[in-house]
Amino acid sequence: MRVLLIGSGGREHALAVGLAADPSVEFLAAAPGNPGIAQVAELHPVTATDPAAVAALAVELSADLVVIGPEAPLVAGVADAVRAKGIACFGPSAAAAQLEGSKAFANEVMEAAGVPTARSFACTTVDEAKAALAEFGAPYVVKNDGLAAGKGVVVTDDLDTAVRHAEECGKVVIEEFLPGPEVSLFVITDGTAVAPLMPAQDFKRLKDGDAGPNTGGMGAYAPLDWAPADLTERVLRETVEPTLAEMRRRGTPFAGLLYVGLALTPDGPKVIEFNARFGDPETQVVLALLATPLAGLLKAAATGTLAGHPPLIWHDGAAVTVVVASHNYPGTPRTGDVITGAEVPGVIHAGTARDAEGRLVSAGGRVLSVTATGADLAAAREAAYALVGGVSLAGAQFRSDIALRAVNHEIKI
Ligand code: AMP
Repeated sequence: MRVLLIGSGGREHALAVGLAADPSVEFLAAAPGNPGIAQVAELHPVTATDPAAVAALAVELSADLVVIGPEAPLVAGVADAVRAKGIACFGPSAAAAQLEGSKAFANEVMEAAGVPTARSFACTTVDEAKAALAEFGAPYVVKNDGLAAGKGVVVTDDLDTAVRHAEECGKVVIEEFLPGPEVSLFVITDGTAVAPLMPAQDFKRLKDGDAGPNTGGMGAYAPLDWAPADLTERVLRETVEPTLAEMRRRGTPFAGLLYVGLALTPDGPKVIEFNARFGDPETQVVLALLATPLAGLLKAAATGTLAGHPPLIWHDGAAVTVVVASHNYPGTPRTGDVITGAEVPGVIHAGTARDAEGRLVSAGGRVLSVTATGADLAAAREAAYALVGGVSLAGAQFRSDIALRAVNHEIKI
């Protein structure tokens, strides 16, 4: 199989490692990629969000499968453009990607499908937003109605902060706060058949103890030994299958990766958000544990043949990912700092680049992540932090408590 991967973050580096390890993949290219992805794929400097350019590259490379990593190309219609050339593409259409692209659209679909989620109001004026905030009370949840790369949400006890975010965004969704531990469930689907991956947990806040601002994600681990045994089955039944049915009914079937972000509330799992692509950094841990060849699985979803795909196989043990972010992230990150110790297995590149002298330097907010597996979560955690210790980056920020509460059996539903 000849595969073209679109994107340049940590998620895409993890996908590239998984695709390159699939014996059915004879050729792997990526656009635009990053210095980590360059270790396993041929890079092409094509803009990920340009549908015509990506489709032309797929044709030029005789790709049998295009895999789209990030949300922006999906919302821009890159998957549609690739499929229009007769090439299989893993990733939903622009119409279906609205499940992530618009919170208001996702809420409308969830309501029609009877999916358990937070009560919410879509607000277009500050007065509407103020009324909704008063209705729900603290903690306040204010979401930008549009793509914000995981950073458009403010959860706060402070009414002024909530109102200010609503003013800044214009169009917002105000939601009831959902209590309980959060879980990410990735479901590969061809629009009808589903292959759920292992549930994982990520860490959205910048600092230890879930303090500090929300980020794109500072770490992750799997499996979740503390989660209910029927979690995946229940979420498929209550959430995924009704949502896919509603998308088919609307004539915009969702095929690709449905990311279900859940809160395990005392009333059961409720949806916090849908994403239309793999999550970063949960992808790093989930793919580290997946033994099923990745390209064949994604190709089955892209070609409507997932029902005939063999059941997924998983490695024993656990995986932990720790993100290393640059100075000042998630504000404007400082870039250009030299990185050493990052060209070893287990280090996944995200915001890295080569400077004029060929040195590896930071080029974004989340610079890299390290992923380690182990016989159990404690061993995986220890191995991941040993890898972090080998990386040097001036001003680096990382959490020291990824997976710690799970190791200590402190998570309660
Ligand atoms: P989102 O971009 O929708 O995933 O939101 C980012 C983060 O904000 C989530 O991972 C949660 O930690 C938090 N969050 C969002 N919506 C809610 C909600 N309704 N109740 C509680 N926390 C929420």
